Amino acid sequence: MRIGCHGLVWTGVFDAKGIRSATESTRAAGFDLIEYPLMSPSTFDAREARRALDDCGLAGTGSLGLGPETDVASEDLARVRAGRDLLFQAVDRVAEFGGSHLCGVLQSAMRKYGAPATPAAVDNSAKVLSEVVDRGRASGVSVSVEVVNRYESNVFNTGRGALEYIAHSGADLGVHLDTYHMNIEESSMFEPVLDVGDRLRYVHIGESHRGYLGTGSVDFKTFFHALHRTAYDGPVVFESFSSAVVEPTLTSALGIWRNLWDDGADLGAHANSFIRGAVTAARTISLH
Ligand code: MN
Repeated sequence: MRIGCHGLVWTGVFDAKGIRSATESTRAAGFDLIEYPLMSPSTFDAREARRALDDCGLAGTGSLGLGPETDVASEDLARVRAGRDLLFQAVDRVAEFGGSHLCGVLQSAMRKYGAPATPAAVDNSAKVLSEVVDRGRASGVSVSVEVVNRYESNVFNTGRGALEYIAHSGADLGVHLDTYHMNIEESSMFEPVLDVGDRLRYVHIGESHRGYLGTGSVDFKTFFHALHRTAYDGPVVFESFSSAVVEPTLTSALGIWRNLWDDGADLGAHANSFIRGAVTAARTISLH
């Protein structure tokens, strides 16, 4: 199990300098892995990311949320094609920096929709994602779709919903669970992990307000017990946002209006220790 940190803890600018400093800060905070935001994959400097990862001895992954103009869960085929192109670029960047996973809101735009997804929109989304999986397979990148709350997607909002979508796609997609979203939509922090089972390939650890772990209402204890029960061994990545660090597209899409922390180094070191402590404690359950 690799414990990681989302790049937005460190900076909102992912040019070569931002990539380097975020990677070094992730290492300094004690993590094993950094997740790079790939909101603009065409301009992401994958060669610099690869060098930074090598120098720091870290693993890397990539994530993004699609926008309205690249919404693959649309009936507008121009948007679907633009989304497909963007996702292909994102897979290619992850492969270029030697990453193992592409994840995030890949199944739709990351925004509040005014109506449920239509069957045609879901078909378009599932078809594109199955092509993205094929492209990832060819370059050794595993692709997972993130289960997010109702204000950020209308395709599915629970682990079981994601399983239905994946069955419909017929593709070897992974499920990406996030404790922040589970806390809003799921009936507990335990059953969804068991329901998703070995389809679970990526995990985000976020607090109910997306700030310091342990200061909100997420039941982390139960969630880590569930990961232990299913012998989950994929990435477990801390995700937190504050208005102190701004990436214009992502910050607005997620509604990050409040300043919940200023010091990313303190936040990151705390999260690394919190997650490792929870994983260690859950392991002792088998002794009881
Ligand atoms: Mn997340």
